[in-house]
Amino acid sequence: MGRIIAIANQKGGVGKTTTAVNLAASLVSLEKRVLLIDLDPQANSSSGLGIRVADLEQTAYEVLVDELPAAEVLLPTDMEGLMLLPSHINLVGAEVELIEVVHREQRLRKALSAISDQFDYLIIDCPPSLGLLTLNALTAAQGVLIPVQAEYFALEGLGQLLNTIKLVRQSLNEALEIDGVVITMFDTRLRLSNQVQQELERYFGDRVYKTVVQRNVRLSEAPSYGKPVILYDALSMGARNYLALANEVLQQHG
Ligand code: ADP
Ligand code: MG
Repeated sequence: MGRIIAIANQKGGVGKTTTAVNLAASLVSLEKRVLLIDLDPQANSSSGLGIRVADLEQTAYEVLVDELPAAEVLLPTDMEGLMLLPSHINLVGAEVELIEVVHREQRLRKALSAISDQFDYLIIDCPPSLGLLTLNALTAAQGVLIPVQAEYFALEGLGQLLNTIKLVRQSLNEALEIDGVVITMFDTRLRLSNQVQQELERYFGDRVYKTVVQRNVRLSEAPSYGKPVILYDALSMGARNYLALANEVLQQHG
C-alpha cells in the first residue's frame, strides 16, 4: 500500500499546489510510482500538469459524490509514472451535496483504498480551507505535510490546523501523523525569512524539513507550460529544492 500524504494549510497562496505537483514529480524522478490527487476546486495542480479540466466529465467530484471508482478517473500525465486524479470547479458543490450523507468524511479514504497498492505515494493537494474536502484528505492520509510561507504572520492559523488534525485523530483517523513542515518562498536575503525558520523550528522541532524551498521564478512559470519544474528547468533552484525535499520524504518512509 502506498503512503498517502495530504498537503494541507488552510491559508491560500502558501505553496500547497506548487509543493504537491513538484514533490510528486520529484518522487517519480526517483523512480517511485506516484498519484497526485487534486482536491481543490480551483484545479490548479490539474491545469499545472497540462490537463484541460473544463473538458473533463469524470473527476474527483464524481468519485466523492457519486462514488465512481477512482480507477475510472485517473489520467496519465506527460511524466511517465505520474498519474493524476483531476479536480473540477464543480467540486465546490460537493461540500453541500454531501451534507446529509453519513461517513461523508470517509469518501476519499474508501475510494483510495481500492487503488493505493498501485502506487508508492499518493499526494493530495488540499483546498485553502478546513472544510469537508480537507477533512476527507486528512481522513484518507497517513501523513500530513504542511507548507508554510516564509512571511509575516506565517504561524498564524497553524494552531487551527493543528487542532483540526488533533480532532481528526480522535474521531476519524487515529494513525494520522504530521510528516513535517516545509518552508516555502524562502528569501535568503531577508532577515524575516530566517526569523520564520527559527520560529518554526522552536515550535515543530525536528519536524521542520531541512530542505527549504527558496523563492524561484521557475516554480511560478512552470504551471503555465503545463509542466512540473523538473521538466521545465531541471537545473533551476526550484527543481533542486523539490528534489531534495523528495529525498527527505524517501528517507522518512522509504
Ligand atoms: P496554494 O496552493 O497554497 O494556494 P500555490 O502553490 O498556488 O499556493 O502558490 C501561490 C503562488 O506562489 C503561485 O503563483 C505559485 O506559482 C507561487 N509560488 C509558490 N511557491 C513558489 C516559490 N518557491 N517561488 C516562487 N513562486 C512560488
Ligand atoms: Mg493550491
